[in-house]
Amino acid sequence: MQSSGQDRRIVIGVDLGGTNLRIAGITREGDVLHLRREETRADAGPKDLLERLVTGLLGVEEELTESGWEVLGASLGVPGVISRRRGVVESSPNLPGWKKIHLLRRLRRSVSLPLLLENDANAAVFGEYWAGAGKGKSTMVLLTLGTGVGGGIIIDGRLLRGADGMAGEIGHLTVEREGLPCPCGNRGCLERYASARGISGRYLDLCGGSAPGMPAEGSAEAAWVHSLAREGDRMALRAFREAGIYLGIAMAAIVNIVNPEAIIIGGGVLPAWDLFMPSAREEMMARAFQAPAESVELLPAALGDHAGFIGAAGLLWKEIPSAA
Ligand SMILES: [Zn+2]
Repeated sequence: MQSSGQDRRIVIGVDLGGTNLRIAGITREGDVLHLRREETRADAGPKDLLERLVTGLLGVEEELTESGWEVLGASLGVPGVISRRRGVVESSPNLPGWKKIHLLRRLRRSVSLPLLLENDANAAVFGEYWAGAGKGKSTMVLLTLGTGVGGGIIIDGRLLRGADGMAGEIGHLTVEREGLPCPCGNRGCLERYASARGISGRYLDLCGGSAPGMPAEGSAEAAWVHSLAREGDRMALRAFREAGIYLGIAMAAIVNIVNPEAIIIGGGVLPAWDLFMPSAREEMMARAFQAPAESVELLPAALGDHAGFIGAAGLLWKEIPSAA
């Protein structure tokens, strides 16, 4: 199937997020082709979403084939607790009704490609490692500061999955002993302080519980607080600075445990980098061992919300031998 010198093989990457479903062809170099995006509309239930997933997969496969690509397989990043080997989504807080869904078995009824399933946060960290800000590094950690806080760890070029595929949940590292309760069951998790929701919640607290004009949705709230901080609002600046301190506590733990070459920060809070990173860096330096804290690079993520499907495809590419 090889044309002279040029690899015409491609892998389909899928990001089945709580908000958007994205499907695209990804080359071995990590380039994105024929990106298809639609709203997930998870409320319509698993059956509806599965049907649209199949339609999208087959559609992108057909487009790629018509453009002269040989599609080698499809790899899906899905939020929640995933049983990779069995291809099962055990549960997913972002996809209502998804309990013990045999995703790969159901897809195989309609899709004849080899299929791979991975947790979406793991897929995103692999994306940044393979084709984003972590390119060329071998040990790195990704922290995604969005509505919640996602995380993932690459050690010596390998995704750290752990015994149950649950490794890398840095968002649920305890940073405050008697802190705010978290939906995970713990209290004082990083996510409660350094996520978009955490920052806007803290701003609301600092304003005595009422902030006229604040939008009603988590990520929009944080963007609103961000714009106030840009105008010099002292409480808004403080909310970001404090989020940075909690982030720094977590980064110090990461530095001491993993000794990464880079900690990469992504997610919707990223545009406020200069408002939270100085306090985060200072806190990390104060708490971590000096040598690994001085050597770690703190970098903004490069792939934005493409990291999930690029990384999912990258994980499948890793299993495919290079073209001879
Ligand atoms: Zn938690």
